[in-house]
Amino acid sequence: MLTFEDLNISKQQLNALNDLGFIKPTPIQEQSFSVILSGKDMVGIAQTGTGKTLAYMLPIIRDLKYTEQLTPRILVFVPTRELVLQVVAAIKKLTAYINIRVMGVYGGTNINTQKKAILNGTDIIVGTPGRFYDLVLSQVLKTKDIKKLVIDEVDVMLDLGFRFQLLNIFEILPNRRQNIMFSATMTDDVDALINDYFKSPTKISIAVSGTPLDNISQTCYDVTNFYTKINLLRYLIIDKELFNKVLVFIATKKSADLLFAELEEDFGNEVCVIHSNKTQNYRIRSIKQFEDGKNRILVATDIMARGLDLEEISHVINFDTPNFPENYMHRIGRTGRAKHEGKTILFSTEQEQSAKERIEELMNYEILKLKFPSDVELSKKLTREEQPIEVEINNPHKKIDFEKGTAFHQKSIKNSKTNQGGSYRRELAKKYKKPKTRGDKNYNKRNKH
Ligand code: ADP
Ligand code: MG
Repeated sequence: MLTFEDLNISKQQLNALNDLGFIKPTPIQEQSFSVILSGKDMVGIAQTGTGKTLAYMLPIIRDLKYTEQLTPRILVFVPTRELVLQVVAAIKKLTAYINIRVMGVYGGTNINTQKKAILNGTDIIVGTPGRFYDLVLSQVLKTKDIKKLVIDEVDVMLDLGFRFQLLNIFEILPNRRQNIMFSATMTDDVDALINDYFKSPTKISIAVSGTPLDNISQTCYDVTNFYTKINLLRYLIIDKELFNKVLVFIATKKSADLLFAELEEDFGNEVCVIHSNKTQNYRIRSIKQFEDGKNRILVATDIMARGLDLEEISHVINFDTPNFPENYMHRIGRTGRAKHEGKTILFSTEQEQSAKERIEELMNYEILKLKFPSDVELSKKLTREEQPIEVEINNPHKKIDFEKGTAFHQKSIKNSKTNQGGSYRRELAKKYKKPKTRGDKNYNKRNKH
């Protein structure tokens, strides 16, 4: 098995890796190394938690000569501000013994402070596309010396609608540059971007998109509604020892706030929340308090927690069932990182069963269903969305066919759902080109050999 010593990197870099306790490169790190050094364009697809940050930073730093020039030579894009901070921290650790300057740029903070820092000179810029572009337009940030462009978490980037910003930025970067792109999943959007803008890139794919990490144990519960989910969650996380660092995912900002308020009643300052409507300072503080163990429970929306490397999370709880199975993969990838055992629990209502099936289909794996604990109270309270649609009998302006009534209405919703499922499955099959063998347990066994 290859160690970092075999990779032909400098003594200083080896020492830094040693300090971090890293001995062997992960598969994506091993395979990207020579490709990135060769200067060719590269696309790397690997599951979350497989060490993609070092996969691009190791060879880039290996190649980066000391200079006093002020303009940056390396540009790294990540989708969120939190990731900027995380990648900057990782680079700082990796360059502990060499003289390399790195800085992060992101929105929501004073642009003038960042302008001043840029004028002092930097070798590597890590940033979100929006703020980077603003800094270029303000003429403070010069792009003429950029030799390598890394786009990390490119699938998220495109999901967040950064495509046009990226295209604008491609226009202003030097043509002779190396493009390096990393993603946890390969989507049609990612594929289109590569075909349009990359020069015959080398593709490195470590695992089929959607393969769950082996060291994550996945379980699920069928739960009747939102408030019963809250009861179940309370029941579970009351065990502080077992549930000592819990990341709770929920789809929308509104429901994140609602869940946070409910949990706060029982768990007080053990709980914190992040979503994109919170201020930058609030978000950074929440993450830090969760990291430091001051808060035991973090409620987060998908976008906020994508790609975040939080240490030793005991449980990822999916309060709702993501509509896009890829989101489930990203959520559960927040635990079981770097070989630690991880546990995930998925809550699904009846309406969410088809989403759960799509997840299982993508993973080719059936999530272990646990029996709903009899001690947990079934709530009758319904959220606005869960309430049945009322027929306004007394409204003369609305024509209602009482013959068909609500039963008809419900049936038509049901039918449209079934159709969606079918076409989505075909889409998936097209995308991943995998045989549909849900429930065939031997399929997984066969593939392990
Ligand atoms: P990804 O971007 O693929 O989700 P990260 O780059 O965030 O993954 O790395 C995940 C975790 O694994 C981090 O905590 C990182 O420090 C750790 N890690 C990275 N490379 C190694 C390695 N070669 N050996 C041990 N741990 C590693
Ligand atoms: Mg990453």
